[in-house]
Amino acid sequence: MIETDIIIIGAGPVGLFTIFEAGLLKLRCHLIDSLPQPGGQCSEIYPKKPIYDIPGFPSILAGELIDNLMEQAAPFKPGFTLGEAAVDIEKLDDGSFIVTTIKGTKHHAPIVIIAGGLGVFEPRKPPIENLEAYEDKGVEYIIKDPEFYRGKRCVIAGGGDSALDWSIFLADNNIASEVALVHRRSSFRGHLDSVQKVLDLADTGKIKLITEAEVVGVGGNGEIENVLIKHETQGDFILETDHFIPLFGLKPSLGPIADWGFEIEKNAITVNTLDYSTNIPGIYAIGDVNVYENKLKLILCGFHEGTLAVQSAFARIHPDKKNVLKYTTVNGVQGF
Ligand SMILES: Cc1cc2nc3c(=O)[nH]c(=O)nc-3n(C[C@H](O)[C@H](O)[C@H](O)COP(=O)(O)OP(=O)(O)OC[C@H]3O[C@@H](n4cnc5c(N)ncnc54)[C@H](O)[C@@H]3O)c2cc1C
Repeated sequence: MIETDIIIIGAGPVGLFTIFEAGLLKLRCHLIDSLPQPGGQCSEIYPKKPIYDIPGFPSILAGELIDNLMEQAAPFKPGFTLGEAAVDIEKLDDGSFIVTTIKGTKHHAPIVIIAGGLGVFEPRKPPIENLEAYEDKGVEYIIKDPEFYRGKRCVIAGGGDSALDWSIFLADNNIASEVALVHRRSSFRGHLDSVQKVLDLADTGKIKLITEAEVVGVGGNGEIENVLIKHETQGDFILETDHFIPLFGLKPSLGPIADWGFEIEKNAITVNTLDYSTNIPGIYAIGDVNVYENKLKLILCGFHEGTLAVQSAFARIHPDKKNVLKYTTVNGVQGF
């Protein structure tokens, strides 16, 4: 049995920063994640993509942010159970919890913080015959390292931020030799400045923009060699390519957590914004996994939520101790 003060389910950016805030209150954390590495979406989906809205960092790669968060948490010696999904929770008579993973690892603590983000990652796949046969043979649903596409021809499909941003990144930095962006409609769902940038790159010939069209087939001899495109007005045509990257987002699925008795709305856990507590006393939910009025799924909002949750957790664990907020600028950071 792993004993700790706070079990954090989810080692994404929000779970990682919470270790630091808990550590300042002398509360130990142990994190559980179904992925083999920490970092959540930042490591799994976009480690090489720059983020521009982390306070104090005009630009930082998602992977670097995770490295920094790990370094910041290190003085507080967090424990990790990685590569194991948390599948079961039991509340004991004293109000504490036992969380068990799919491999049977048991963790015991008075507080549980769910930082499970989008839950278990599952990309939305377009309904194309034989698509799965080409997975990892030129078909990818997530771009982890843009360098993988250096000098290659890429067909990206989708109309959201991911499709727009990656098309821009691969084309504008001269990484891919050719970038084609295929989208069903003539308008996009992404940020207006990203849409404008794609249109500008299309004008200069750096992106081949194919709208009102869908990729309906894939072909090749073992590895992908071409895609079949069905155009609303121009009919069907074949485009030669080395990669087909459908970026239609991730299917939100809370996974096992959905059955733990939380109040759920829009596939997320409802919380009290006073301290991000759930309807189960002793369990908090922070980051992308929670929902409340005006919720924004942003990393910086999750950092705030984790900070308030651990203050409340401290009061639950130590009802007789008064916690006085101390600035790290005054006290420094004293680890365990
Ligand atoms: C392409 C892209 C670009 C983005 N750009 C930005 C940006 O510029 N700025 C910004 O602020 N945000 C951005 N975001 C959003 C940001 O990544 C999320 O808000 C952030 O990752 C949420 O962090 P989190 O720790 O709450 O959850 P996540 O990062 O989703 O991590 C949750 C972790 O919980 C684990 N987990 C879930 N259920 C279980 C379980 N039962 N057992 C064990 N582990 C479990 C998952 O495996 C995962 O590792 C972007 C997202 C994407 C996809």
